[in-house]
Amino acid sequence: MSDLSSGLRLKLKENFSFGSLRLINKRLSADGTEKFLFALTDKGSVEAVSIPTENRATGCISTQVGCKFACSFCASGLHGFKRNLSAAEILEQALFLKDGSRVRKLTHLVFMGTGEPLDNYDNLLKSIRIINSKEAFNIGARRITISTCGITPGIKRLSGEGLQIELSVSLHASDDRTRSRIMPINKRYPLESLLTACREYIKKTDRQITFEYVLIQGLNSDLQSSRELSKILKGLNCKVNLIPANFVAELGIEPPGKLEILMFRDCLLKAGIGVTLRKPRGQDIEASCGQLRLKHENRI
Ligand code: SAH
Repeated sequence: MSDLSSGLRLKLKENFSFGSLRLINKRLSADGTEKFLFALTDKGSVEAVSIPTENRATGCISTQVGCKFACSFCASGLHGFKRNLSAAEILEQALFLKDGSRVRKLTHLVFMGTGEPLDNYDNLLKSIRIINSKEAFNIGARRITISTCGITPGIKRLSGEGLQIELSVSLHASDDRTRSRIMPINKRYPLESLLTACREYIKKTDRQITFEYVLIQGLNSDLQSSRELSKILKGLNCKVNLIPANFVAELGIEPPGKLEILMFRDCLLKAGIGVTLRKPRGQDIEASCGQLRLKHENRI
């Protein structure tokens, strides 16, 4: 803008930017799920996904570049951890999905992309307050979901924020031995401390927690695990979201058969636990955590 003085232009350049994400790849699934890969200014890359339902869309966004938690079934951690995303970089993903989905209004946001939201706590909360604010995105707190691998102190801190957000806890196993095997974070915050934090969270916020449970062939999907799961969740105001594992060739991960999945679900239902069974979306475009970024980084 040459009609501004050069001094002012310099000042603007030093203090403001028009965003730092650059779209470098885009995949559209037959079911309408769209996955976007963005380059960051420091050569890192980050993914966001738009998941349409009839007339609205849910955005799935990332909070970190890579992931340090190394869950054995998840592609996000395969290249290790690079850094936290700034609040601006988190918001830019949401803004892109909001502007990009012209047909469907972006009504829900889930922090289920790459990284661990509660490990980037301050930037996460800053971005949530903006997403929630009437002056900005105006997305109600109850339509915003944080998903955590079980950072106990983060769950405790979150319970004091006075936010009506949805909390999902990635459980994926019903005993410490199996959970530590597939989620190394369990060695630091074992099931008992995690479930105690969840119990306190529910009590303090009067909100239900969703436990995510990825069903992985040969690992955690047998009936004994389901019985154990209903035992440890008994009396908690919660529901379980069963997710048949997405195939990740690099990790040798695959879902169990349909019958095993249904038996696992029915066992929980019989024990009086609310269960949803997630329909896989975007499988043809590698829309599961970290998969598109993994392909990109493997090439460079
Ligand atoms: N770090 C957070 C958020 C990112 S992962 C967390 O652990 O919750 C978001 C969800 O995707 C988690 O429930 C995670 O376990 C799940 N996920 C990761 N890899 C998957 C795969 N191969 N198949 C199905 N779900 C997967």
